[in-house]
This record gives sequence, structure tokens and C-alpha cells, in this order.
Amino acid sequence: MALLGKEKIIPQRSEVWAHFTKIINSEGASKTKCNYCEKEFYCDMKKYGTGSLKYHISSYLIKKHVGKG
Ligand SMILES: [Zn+2]
Repeated sequence: MALLGKEKIIPQRSEVWAHFTKIINSEGASKTKCNYCEKEFYCDMKKYGTGSLKYHISSYLIKKHVGKG
């Protein structure tokens, strides 16, 4: 596994972070990436929290990622 540039991955303790990887780049901008479809979210936690991530999981992961039914 190779890290790109100066990005670093920070483990988070939250249920949504079981499905997403949080990445902070060298500019300090945070983004998250879905562990399953690798969709990236530019997510300012101060503004949006993890709501969009939970939405992605609840509405999308179940159908697209798990694929049951
Ligand atoms: Zn996804």
C-alpha cells in the first residue's frame, strides 16, 4: 500500500468511518473516500459533519456495495 504525496490517513472512531477513509492532504484540506466504491467526498466536518457520509452508506452502500437484493 502506497501513500500518495503527503497525504496521510487518519483513523476515526465512528460508525461511518468503518466505511470511509479520512484523508488530509498537505494543504490541510480534508476529504473522505468510500472504502467500497472509492467515491471521494470533500467534507468539511465543521460544516457538514458526517451526515453526507451516513447518507451515502444508508442509501447507496446497501444496494450498490453489498448488492443483496
Ligand atoms: Zn461508496
